[in-house]
Amino acid sequence: MMSGNGSVSEIRFIVDHNVGKLAKWLRMMGYDSLFFNGEDDSQMVRQALAEGRIILTRDTGIMKRRVVNNGRLKALLIESEEPERQMRQLMTALDLMKDLRPFTLCLECNHPLVERSHEEVKGRVPPYVYKTQTQYMECPACRRIYWRGTHWEAMTRKLEKLAGMNDN
Ligand SMILES: [Zn+2]
Repeated sequence: MMSGNGSVSEIRFIVDHNVGKLAKWLRMMGYDSLFFNGEDDSQMVRQALAEGRIILTRDTGIMKRRVVNNGRLKALLIESEEPERQMRQLMTALDLMKDLRPFTLCLECNHPLVERSHEEVKGRVPPYVYKTQTQYMECPACRRIYWRGTHWEAMTRKLEKLAGMNDN
């Protein structure tokens, strides 16, 4: 399962509830990331194996599982409790900044976004947005419309800042 179709990043995640904030950040960067909110870790492990996803967790129990030890399943133990440090650890460990595809996944439901024309979003976005923004994407699952507004730019800047930070 090491080769893909080339258009989508091969790095995919399943994000444990104890590091749940990472899911939105990863989607924002264009990395397919499922949020796992169940009680049964075995279910998360099965899904990660079946879909070739890397588990992100703070649960050391998962790291001790045989499938992780023998390398069949990739898992990254997140060290910090603090979301920005978590993100920084992840970006460094997996070199995430080199394969960014921002503005491609829905931040809420992880579904791939599709382009919408200016005309198509008329009446569906606030008037001031319609007046000032030209590029739009829609999530076919939840129907949210995204545009390259200030929110997106702020998140991008924050990512760049995190990527440039060091531990000193
Ligand atoms: Zn959505």
